[in-house]
Amino acid sequence: MVLAQLGGSISRAIQQMSNATVIDEKALNDCLNEITRALLQSDVQFKLVRDMQTNIKKIVNLDDLAAGHNKRKIIQQAIFNELCKMLDPGKPSFTPKKGKTNVVMFVGLQGSGKTTTCTKYAYYHQKKGWKPALVCADTFRAGAFDQLKQNATKAKIPFYGSYTESDPVKIAVEGVERFKEENCDLIIVDTSGRHKQEASLFEEMRQVSEATRPDLVIFVMDSSIGQAAFDQAQAFKQSVAVGAVIITKMDGHAKGGGALSAVAATKSPVIFIGTGEHMDEFEVFDVKPFVSRLLG
Ligand code: GDP
Repeated sequence: MVLAQLGGSISRAIQQMSNATVIDEKALNDCLNEITRALLQSDVQFKLVRDMQTNIKKIVNLDDLAAGHNKRKIIQQAIFNELCKMLDPGKPSFTPKKGKTNVVMFVGLQGSGKTTTCTKYAYYHQKKGWKPALVCADTFRAGAFDQLKQNATKAKIPFYGSYTESDPVKIAVEGVERFKEENCDLIIVDTSGRHKQEASLFEEMRQVSEATRPDLVIFVMDSSIGQAAFDQAQAFKQSVAVGAVIITKMDGHAKGGGALSAVAATKSPVIFIGTGEHMDEFEVFDVKPFVSRLLG
C-alpha cells in the first residue's frame, strides 16, 4: 500500500466510525482494526501496530468519556499522537554546528541511494553557507568514486577518493584529515554497501567508524524495501552508532511503513527524505506535518 493510500485508509476508517450512530466499543474496534490492516499492508512491523492499538484503547476509554465529549475528536487525536510517537524516538539527532568540524558518516545497503543522498545532504548545507566536502570510502562497488566525483563536481563540492587504494579505512581517514586541514565544516564520508546484509559489511562499517570517529552516523534506507526495514536498520545500528535516518525514493511507490520501522529499530529520527533523483529533491522531515498530511 503506498503512502497516500495508507493516509486515505486511516482517514476513511475514522470517518466510518464518525458516521456510526453511537460510538461504542464495537465502532472503536472496527475503526482500529481497519487502521491495523492498513498499517500492516504498508509494511509497518506487527509489534508496532499491536502496541499502537493497545495504547489507543488505553487512552480512549469509552466508559470514562462523559456524554457531550466529542469522542470522534478524542479518538482522532489519539491516533494522530500514536502515529507521531511511532515516528519520534523522543530525542533529536546530533545537529552539526556550522563553522566547527563535523564528520558525518553515511551507511546503507547498495542501491539504497546512499551516494546520491550524500551529495544532496552536502548541497543542502552548501546552499545555507556551509563548507561541505565528500569522501568516497566505497572501494567495493566499481564506479562508486566516479559517481561521487561526478555529483560533487556538478555541485562544486570538494571531494576525495582513489581509483587504486582498496582499503576503505585508509581513504576515509586520509579524506577526513585533508578536509579538516582545509577547514571544511561538514565532512561527509560515503561508505560501501552490499546487496544484502553481510558480516563483512558491518565489520567494515565498524572499522571506518572507529577510525574516523564521526559526530553523526546516518542510515540511508530505500522506502520501498518493505517488511525487511526493521531488521536491516537494526543490523546497522548494532555495528555502528546510527544517530539519524534518511528515507529515499519517497517519490516512488513508497510504503509508509519502512520509515516507522526504521525509527523503531534505530531509536533515531528521520531527518530528511529523498523525493527524486535530482540534487534538490530532498526535504527536511518533520513528524507532525508529515502525519497531518498522511491523514489528510
Ligand atoms: P547507493 O548504491 O546506495 O550509493 O545508491 P545510489 O546513490 O547509486 O542510488 C541508486 C539509484 O537510486 C540511483 O539510480 C539514484 O538516482 C536513485 N535514487 C536515489 N535517491 C532517490 C530518490 O529519492 N528518488 C528516486 N526516484 N531515486 C533515487
